[in-house]
Amino acid sequence: MTTDTAAQAAYVVAALLFILSLAGLSQHKTSRSGVVWGIAGMVVALAATVGLASRSITTTGLVLIALATALGAGIGLWRARVVEMTGMPELIAIMHSLVGLAAAFVGWNGYLDVDADLSGSLLAIHHAEVFIGVFIGAVTFTGSVVAYLKLSARINSRPLTLPGKHVLNIGALVAFVGLTAAFVARPGMGLLIAVTVIALALGAHLVASIGGGDMPVVVSMLNSYSGWAAAASGFLLANNLLIVTGALVGSSGAYLSYIMCKAMNRSFISVIAGGFGTPAAAAEEGEQGEHREINAEETAELLGNATSVIITPGYGMAVAQAQYPVAELARKLRERGVEVRFGIHPVAGRLPGHMNVLLAEANVPYDIVLEMDEINDDFAATSVVLVIGANDTVNPAATDNPSSPIAGMPVLHVWESANVIVFKRSMAAGYAGVQNPLFFRENTQMLFGDAKQRVEDILRGLDALDAPVPEMAGSR
Ligand code: NDP
Repeated sequence: MTTDTAAQAAYVVAALLFILSLAGLSQHKTSRSGVVWGIAGMVVALAATVGLASRSITTTGLVLIALATALGAGIGLWRARVVEMTGMPELIAIMHSLVGLAAAFVGWNGYLDVDADLSGSLLAIHHAEVFIGVFIGAVTFTGSVVAYLKLSARINSRPLTLPGKHVLNIGALVAFVGLTAAFVARPGMGLLIAVTVIALALGAHLVASIGGGDMPVVVSMLNSYSGWAAAASGFLLANNLLIVTGALVGSSGAYLSYIMCKAMNRSFISVIAGGFGTPAAAAEEGEQGEHREINAEETAELLGNATSVIITPGYGMAVAQAQYPVAELARKLRERGVEVRFGIHPVAGRLPGHMNVLLAEANVPYDIVLEMDEINDDFAATSVVLVIGANDTVNPAATDNPSSPIAGMPVLHVWESANVIVFKRSMAAGYAGVQNPLFFRENTQMLFGDAKQRVEDILRGLDALDAPVPEMAGSR
């Protein structure tokens, strides 16, 4: 068997491993094996690619490949070990930017180093591939960098609203189509520089135009773009595996974006077109009334007397790493005969599935963790809701206030329950920067402080409820 045949066979195996990985990652129970399939697929793919390359490169080239692999693997391992769960979206965004940059470089290389055998229509197709690859890669690169800056709060997450922003976006697309035709007819470096600059500006503008509440869709959308950028590189490099994996990532990212748009009641087209059709409503500033406070002992007493409790976690639970005491609280309450369930909003936290991952890590049973649609009708019959570090995902303004920036986004109807306890450190707004009228409702009480510490205080309060009352001196 020739090296080429062996490498192509290995590519088929790697592609199957990647498909198994995606299937595994789609469910909690199989997600760990999904990761293992993915790693195995990548090892096979890398080994086959290096094997193929080793036929035509010098020893120096091979040493450089080994050095680059060691350096990349070292940086990857280091980042993956130190990243906080709450920093995952930014890490993913910056990794997508590297995929975009690589695709743009591959495109440029394809222009500078044209295969001498190509001529006629094959050469025209090659030039179209170069142009499309550079365009998608550059859009992905700057879009991902802006997403990274927004997600890591290095720049404001509010949408940028330049005058005529949609005309600018559509103009950039029209220019791309026109320049592609011109480049295929008469390839030239000037045209390639022009499309690179237009694509870099378009990527930055598209993501900068998308507002705080729509950022979850941006993360999955950039995931999709990075897949298409990789597929474009696959065509240029005549690498079948890159085409297959790029298409897998591109289509699964697009499908995830669609699911998230549906969950947030947003139009898919409007989000991917940089907030097309969504008026940029100003976030209202200032507090909207009086809020009431409660302490941990009083909360423990309330929970001790409750018949049913729903816990709705959000980003603050991840920041505080409160999932372990929260799981312990759920266990203790269930032991006391209280019905406890978790209500998970599809965009709670900073990653799709963020809360599910944390609760699974703390061994909360899957059957008491319910999706928003499964639990939203049950709040009215619930004694106590614990809102642990969630804010935007429980904001009644989304349903009550048509001028709110998050109007129309489905939220957890926590306010319908008898008592709502909100765990947070201050009266600050959530990710979307919108004030939350829930905090000022009559049945809401604020439990201020770090969520982990407050839940631990409640656990001690519950223990104290069960402890025998010491006899008073002099009492008989
Ligand atoms: P939010 O971001 O709306 O609010 C989180 C709240 O947690 C804050 O108000 C903060 O209040 C509180 N908090 C932070 N740290 C702590 C702590 N240590 N202890 C207690 N409370 C804490 O969270 P949600 O989960 O409700 O909503 C997610 C938001 O993020 C949505 O707007 C969504 O669109 C967006 N988003 C989601 C992504 C996803 O894929 N899931 C990706 C990107 C964005 P305080 O500071 O007062 O403590």
